[in-house]
Amino acid sequence: MTRVGVLAVQGAFVEHEASLSRLGAECYEIRKAADLGRSPDALVIPGGESTVMGKLVRDLGMFDTLRGMILDGTPVLGTCAGMIMLAGSVEGGPSHLATMPIAVRRNAYGRQLGSFSARAGFAGLGEIPLEFIRAPAAVSLGEGVETLSVVDGVPVAVRYGNQIATAFHPELTDDPTVHTYFLDAVR
Ligand code: GLN
Repeated sequence: MTRVGVLAVQGAFVEHEASLSRLGAECYEIRKAADLGRSPDALVIPGGESTVMGKLVRDLGMFDTLRGMILDGTPVLGTCAGMIMLAGSVEGGPSHLATMPIAVRRNAYGRQLGSFSARAGFAGLGEIPLEFIRAPAAVSLGEGVETLSVVDGVPVAVRYGNQIATAFHPELTDDPTVHTYFLDAVR
């Protein structure tokens, strides 16, 4: 059984646990540095607020270990704020884990009208529903970054080896496609 450590310091982690559990994965919550030492098969960095999450990850002494695990190849799914956490550069602000060569713009769709739904193809697996909440946009992709989904010409899901990032929230719909794709990538 795949054991997924879900970063649970802030944001929408419970919904990821529910989505992954429905697919037969075992989830546990990463709340403190020692939890990273439990050798998860994969990691999830949820949506939330990247500035707060980035601060907590540093304050809780998780930053270097978490970053090292990702760079060493532990599969990771980052959604929304999680995508920002992974991004190598964040427009107008500090980057966080910076393990993926993409540049993102936070709150790219405006602060007030920032939540919307869309449908788009994902990784050749058909159309899926996409929920965006004050989502980032990937404004540039570095070498080796594969686009998994596009809305209005903007990449909204990308993969860089062991790292998968979505600007939307797959954990907020019943559609299992993204989590299934992630678990398949882990195996
Ligand atoms: N706007 C948030 C940020 O900048 C991300 C929003 C989300 O995760 N739903 O971190």
